[in-house]
Amino acid sequence: MLLHFIFVIKEKDLGKRNKEFEYVKKMALFYQYWIKKNFSKQVDIKCDEMITTPRIILKKLDTHDLLKDHRQRGEKTYHFYLIHFRPLWTDCTCEGFHQENFGLSYWQPLKNEDDILFLAEKNCTVVSHEIAHEFLRQNRYKRYVEDVHDIWTRHYYDNLPFEKYDKNYDKTNNKPYFMTIDVSSLRL
Ligand SMILES: [Zn+2]
Repeated sequence: MLLHFIFVIKEKDLGKRNKEFEYVKKMALFYQYWIKKNFSKQVDIKCDEMITTPRIILKKLDTHDLLKDHRQRGEKTYHFYLIHFRPLWTDCTCEGFHQENFGLSYWQPLKNEDDILFLAEKNCTVVSHEIAHEFLRQNRYKRYVEDVHDIWTRHYYDNLPFEKYDKNYDKTNNKPYFMTIDVSSLRL
């Protein structure tokens, strides 16, 4: 299957967020590895940017619009939208949303140009939360929602460390390049 990451940016930010998009492309390849390792699924990867134009009508872009975009692009592809706004409604305990072959997460913008750790901590972790839901679901894992939320709670309230990886996808404790939820307690 194809996992297609779509970096959603405002028209006025076009060309200004290239560093982040470079990271998104690296992160996508990392997730190809992470999914294979933890969920035994081989995925192809694609990355794109999608530009949102200012809206004339008084309606903000929301999850509903992206679900429509997903259906138009084709529901057989797993579309993952990295968005510039906080989702209005979600069942998740993070700022993301999940449905069959569909994911989105709020992508916090970089404040300092080379702050990879910020991207790993704030954004990469949320992506892993939504990806874990989807691949657990595909593997017919019954508690594909609850167990991810239990782990997420333990990360934030129980000092459970996130998994940390370097650029070569090796586990590290020093300046991680990618960070994910700890999936070791999931029995697939
Ligand atoms: Zn969730």
